[in-house]
Parts: sequence; structure tokens; C-alpha cells
Amino acid sequence: MRRKINRRELLGAAAAGIAGLAAAGATRTNAMATKKKLEPGKKLFLLRYDTEWNNARQMAGFLEKVVAVHRQEQIPATFFCKGAALDAREREFRAFYKEVKDDPLFDIQDHSYSHIGLGYERGSDIETLRADYEKSFATHERIFGVRPIGISRCGTSGKDGPRLSGFDATEKSRAELDMVASLGVKMINSFLTGIDGRKVFINYGKIGHPDIMGFVSGYSDTIWMLKLKYGEAMEYVFEKIKSGAARNEHMPLMLHDWVAWTRAPDKELTHVKTIVDLARKLGYELVTHIACLKNKALWA
Ligand SMILES: [Zn+2]
Repeated sequence: MRRKINRRELLGAAAAGIAGLAAAGATRTNAMATKKKLEPGKKLFLLRYDTEWNNARQMAGFLEKVVAVHRQEQIPATFFCKGAALDAREREFRAFYKEVKDDPLFDIQDHSYSHIGLGYERGSDIETLRADYEKSFATHERIFGVRPIGISRCGTSGKDGPRLSGFDATEKSRAELDMVASLGVKMINSFLTGIDGRKVFINYGKIGHPDIMGFVSGYSDTIWMLKLKYGEAMEYVFEKIKSGAARNEHMPLMLHDWVAWTRAPDKELTHVKTIVDLARKLGYELVTHIACLKNKALWA
């Protein structure tokens, strides 16, 4: 049984539009379901972890810490889990899922099996991509008993050539979106020519998939915390959040399990707490990706 629900959590969950969760079926239902939608016009902050590191020893303690900190601070987050990492850290992920499966703060989705690239000029052929995603989804089903309906695109460090401008850019990239749609995917990064995927939610009606949401994505910690491309890590993030808030824009924050655990100043996720404190102070509402998907006014 989960712990007692406090008032702050109840309000947060209601505002986050948990309503649709019950309709999502599977095991992610919750007694806190409510009809209340996200407040119109409210700026959303989407914090996610691309959860992809294969080395269980190096990641020891991370998932337990995530549960403790995100519960303590009531921080919703989405975990886009790579199939190969689930296989490599199966015991830890089983324990994690057992702990969070009924808690709407934790949204678990997919990040391919092998970190394969969608939306690149020279990406793998469609059947290779399909096999990779099928394998990853099967791994989710084996370990969690739930099939994911969301994916976050993987960076491939130039291996597949330049990133395209969107899924609408080539016949091949359209076929890639068709392929993930056929696997039941309902949400993926906003990725269409001419739109700023860091700022806007979209749907893919333009290329035949009005039922697929595109979510805001950007500000990867591999850039600001790992490579320190913009100087002091936290100063950069704070500045981005402040300027986003000043422009009244939604704000994505892309963390990685391995960066947050092995490159952060401590193993307490203090940087995550600090970032969230600022976002909340500036009026942002923290939400999971699945809560956005259920809030059709946002993207449909
Ligand atoms: Zn990744």
C-alpha cells in the first residue's frame, strides 16, 4: 500500500490532470484520479531522466535515491528507460517498479533498446529500427508488465549523420514515425520542420498521426553538466529557466541517470531539488509526460 496522501500531493496531482490515468488502463491507475485538468495557460515544467546506463555497479543506489527524493519533494518525473539498461539492471528496476507503479509522480516510458536513432540523415533502416523498439517494448513488458506508449529520441553522436529538421523531412523519417505509431507509441519529442521542439507541444496530424503528441524536449545535462559547454552548470540552467519563465514558455529539462548520479556534485540529487525549487518559485507546474498526454487541450 502506498503512503498516506498529503494535501500538497493531492493538489499537485489534481492540477497535473491525473484524470486520464484511469483510462490509460494497465496498472497505472490511481485512487487519486480526478476530473480536474491542467490549468489553462499554466507553464509546464517537464523533468525527465533518459535512463540508459548499463552498468549496474556504477548506478547502485540511484533508483532508491530517486524514489526518496522525488517523493520527499513531490517532484513528478518521466523515466525514458532503454531496454538494454533494463536488462542489465533488472533487479534494481524490478524493485523500483514495485515501489512506484501506483504513484503518479513516476511515469515510465521507453528510450529504444540499444540507443538507436530516429530522425537522422543516415539512420538505420526501418526494419532494424522496428526490431530495436520491439525488443525494448518486450523488455518493458517482461520486467514491468506494462508496454510503454512514449519514447524519447536518442542522440547518436554523429554516427547516423546530421539530425533532420523533423519527421516530415524525408520519406524515410515519415516511415519511422509510422513505424513507432504501429507499435502503439502516443508521445515522442516535438519534431517537425519549422517548430522549436524545446518550446511547443504539437500533434503529428500534419503527417497522418493526429493522435500522437509531440512534447517539449531540450536542455540536456550532457551539455550543461557533463561537457560544461556553457560554463558553470547550475548558472546556465538557472538562466534558461528564468528566461523561459519570463517568456511564459513551457520548459523541458532532459536529465540522464548516469549524469545525475556520476557527474553531479553529490549523490543526493541536490541539483535536481535546487532546479525544481527555482522552477516552482517562478510559477512552473511540474508534470509527467503521461499527464500531458491525457491533457488533450495542450496538444490535440
Ligand atoms: Zn539517450
